[in-house]
Formats: sequence, C-alpha cells, structure tokens
Amino acid sequence: MKVKANYCDGITANFKVLEVSIGPSGLTLPSGEVWVYEKLKLIASSKLDGSVTYNNKDYDGPNLTLVFDKGIDDPARDYLKRFSSHLTGDSNWHFVRWQIVTTAVILCLMFCFYLGYPYLNRAIVSVIPNSWAIKAGNLVVDGLYNEYSSNACHSADGDYALEKLVETLEIEGLSYPLRVEVVDHQQVNALTAAGGRVVIFNGLITKATSADEVAGVLAHETGHVYYQHPLQGLINVLGFSIVGSFLGGDAASVAVVGLSLSYSRDLERMADEKALEILQDKKISAQGILDFFERTDKKEKNEIVAELEDIFSTHPLSKERINIFSKHIAENEIKGTSISALSAEEWESLQNICNESNE
Ligand SMILES: [Zn+2]
Repeated sequence: MKVKANYCDGITANFKVLEVSIGPSGLTLPSGEVWVYEKLKLIASSKLDGSVTYNNKDYDGPNLTLVFDKGIDDPARDYLKRFSSHLTGDSNWHFVRWQIVTTAVILCLMFCFYLGYPYLNRAIVSVIPNSWAIKAGNLVVDGLYNEYSSNACHSADGDYALEKLVETLEIEGLSYPLRVEVVDHQQVNALTAAGGRVVIFNGLITKATSADEVAGVLAHETGHVYYQHPLQGLINVLGFSIVGSFLGGDAASVAVVGLSLSYSRDLERMADEKALEILQDKKISAQGILDFFERTDKKEKNEIVAELEDIFSTHPLSKERINIFSKHIAENEIKGTSISALSAEEWESLQNICNESNE
C-alpha cells in the first residue's frame, strides 16, 4: 500500500516528497530502506488531515510524515492502525467511548424501564375494557367461593346495612360501580378483585368493634378500586397473557393470581390516602380504621400462626401507615364532628349478616 510522505533529514528545514510503501513489518522508503514499526516513534499526529510523523529510533534526526489523501479515514491509515493504534496516535478511546456509550444506553434503558414500568402497566390497564376487568374480578371471586366452599351472606337487614355503607362511601371517578359482598368465613380479611368487586370476610366484621372500623377498611379497598390496583396486579404477574384469559384461554390463572395478590407499600399508601380522603369527605372518623389496624396488628404479633392468612397478607401494614392515620386524625379531625357510618341497629344487622343467611 503506497502513501505520500514528506521526508525531512532533521538538519535542514527542507523536505523531500516521497512515496512510501506500507507493509506488514514497516515502511519501505524508495531507497529500499525499511523503517520497521518497532523502531518508529510517533512525534505528531494530526486529527485534522490524519497525517502522522515518525522518528526512527535507530537514527538521530530524520523524520517522516505520512500524508493521507483521504485524511483521517484513509484506508492506508486504517491499515497502519491495525498494526497498532500507537502508530497513528489514535488511542482506543474511540472504541472505549462506544463501550461507555453503549453501556450508558443499556443502563438508561433499564432505568427507564424500571421507572416507566408502572406507566406501561397503567397504559395496559387503561386499554383493557372495563367489561374485561369485571370479568376478571368475577373469576377471582368465583375462585374464592370455590376455595372456601362458602357463599356470599345475605339477610334483608344485613344487605340493607351493607348497601348503606357502600353508598355512604361512594365516590366519583371509579371505573366501575363498587360491588361489595360478605363471605361466610372467619378470616379477618378483605379482598378487592378487579372490576370493583370487594369481598369482606365475615371474620373482619364480627371482630370489628364498630361500623366505622369496617367503613375504614372498605374505604381503603375503595382506594384500591379507584386506582385499579387489582387489575394492575394481574397484569404485573400475567402480562399480556391476561388477554388470552379474556378470550377464553386460561381463566384459572386469573383466579389463582387474583387471590394471591398483595400490594407494595406504595400502592398501600395510595389506597390509605384515598381512604382518608373518602372518610374525611364523608365525615366518618379515621379513628375506626386506625383502631382496627392497631388492634389486629397486636393480634397478629400474638397469633402469628393462627392468623397467617389475615388482612396483612394482602395489605401489608407498617408502622408508617399507622403513623399516617394518627397524624391525619390529629391534624384534620375535630372531636365530636364525625358521624357514624351506620346506626347501632344497622351495625348489628351487618354483624349478623351471615348468621341470618344460615338460618
Ligand atoms: Zn390494601
């Protein structure tokens, strides 16, 4: 490979224009003299025209400047660089820079995915038709009744009280109407399924000391409905395959996943905040839900095994949550101005909703 060169003897300022041949072991001058690569010492490298100037370690004085027609991207220069990047003065920086850029892009994509996943999830939630969400909720609740071989409890007075409670807590902005029922099971639990279906376990009602406690829990569940957390949870686990379930595919997995969902701290906080907003708006004291959580929290610590499957397995409780409720009450509630979620008589009917239906 031939390339133009300026040869300077190092004594005078004049230089000779030569044609140098670039070979596998070195540069061959027209005289036949070979400057082997190991002996070359790069003394200048131009980033503008790509020219490179060498001394030869064997001689004191002369230097040779290779001039490339096509500048920095000249094939002859690339050929030279392939022997060693030191011959052209191009460090590996170009390559390293690409590695850094690629790594940064990958990290950024991972980070964006991490940050953006909730938005992606919500985007999927937003395109799923409400009728599908309702169908998913039905699958989950049917699965629950199957699992516990129980049914929804009904009694004329109990149904009336429950309906009143639901109506009292009704808010705008729900994607679907709340459908709340009580299952005849002694767990202290409540389950919110997709499509606005909420199942309160009778154990929660019988162990609550006031209607306000149940109202508080129900307000919290309404928070999950408002933000469509159950559907988000299903999509988190099942991904797009959930669509298959709606189209007549694997319906069982929806039920299994829907029954085992538990929410992150962030989602619990969102539901709590919504609950406090609802309770305040409806003038029901948040003391109920605080009492309920504090009491069941203590009980949880005493009877860890017995109550494994209670409300905290699906709605993890933290000290922080209790503090938020306490702070809200201290800052926003004036004693004596709250109303009871149900009258004493209605509350009694609700507490007996499963007894009467069994008679
Ligand atoms: Zn929750």
